[in-house]
Amino acid sequence: MTIESPALYVVPTPLGNLGDMTQRAIEVLREVPWIAAEDTRHSGALLKHFGAKGRLLAAHQHNEEGAAQQVIARLDAGEAVALISDAGTPAVSDPGARLVARVRAAGHRVVPLPGPCAAVVALSASGLVEPNFLFHGFLPSKAKQREDALRALAGLPYALVFYEAPHRILETVEALATVFGPERTLVMARELTKLFETIHSCPLGEALEWLQADANRQRGEFVLLVSGAPETSDDGEGERVLRLLLAEGLPVKQAAKLAHGITGAGKNALYELALSLKDS
Ligand code: SAM
Repeated sequence: MTIESPALYVVPTPLGNLGDMTQRAIEVLREVPWIAAEDTRHSGALLKHFGAKGRLLAAHQHNEEGAAQQVIARLDAGEAVALISDAGTPAVSDPGARLVARVRAAGHRVVPLPGPCAAVVALSASGLVEPNFLFHGFLPSKAKQREDALRALAGLPYALVFYEAPHRILETVEALATVFGPERTLVMARELTKLFETIHSCPLGEALEWLQADANRQRGEFVLLVSGAPETSDDGEGERVLRLLLAEGLPVKQAAKLAHGITGAGKNALYELALSLKDS
């Protein structure tokens, strides 16, 4: 393979198993004279392993604008550059999107390579059957913002995909159960492609206990997937009754409970709706 020059190649790298590097990714990394990396020290071993010899440029979240200028200068000089992040696909909950935007705006070609992405890998083995999914990535670390972000997603009929680090896994799972209710399915996909890969599904209401039963279950990197809000055969009846009850001055919780009892519409969805109606 001979790479085209000038062009920016966006190159996914393995999530853990080096065997997941594609042939094309290896060839691109071997041929490009420049490699923009999220962490040049971290990527050193990987690049050495695959025989990449290009010179390294740092392209992390704190210097993306500067890195973009450096990359564009190399492209202007007629050279090819590869962009990699620490693991997985650049620009997906990783630095790279701004750099790519700048390079495209400068009129240069951007060539994306398919490859590992934790969200897609987890989704493929999740068993969630929704035809649509929404990739959210990381949630805010502060409790209030996290809950607000979850509330905004609660009524969507899509499978929801989150990234989470081990030190926040318990509080995030607790927040998911609080906002989405105990019945929706949670899939915890941990250490994908690595030795201790675990993919566990359970109702949200049982997830915290499962995690706490063994500290090892809380270790490593996680993709969390939640089944979509259940479809209701509501036809707007639940919302109509809910609005009437709220207008009569009933508290949010009671109004949602009654509207659910009267119409059979989803209780959690009604509760979330009641909250948002109350806010507006
Ligand atoms: N751009 C990468 C991608 O899309 O695969 C993700 C980078 S993001 C900084 C890192 C997060 O991805 C982790 O906190 C975790 O949520 C997820 N992740 C990465 N590797 C993983 C793995 N082997 N197993 C499960 N989740 C992983």
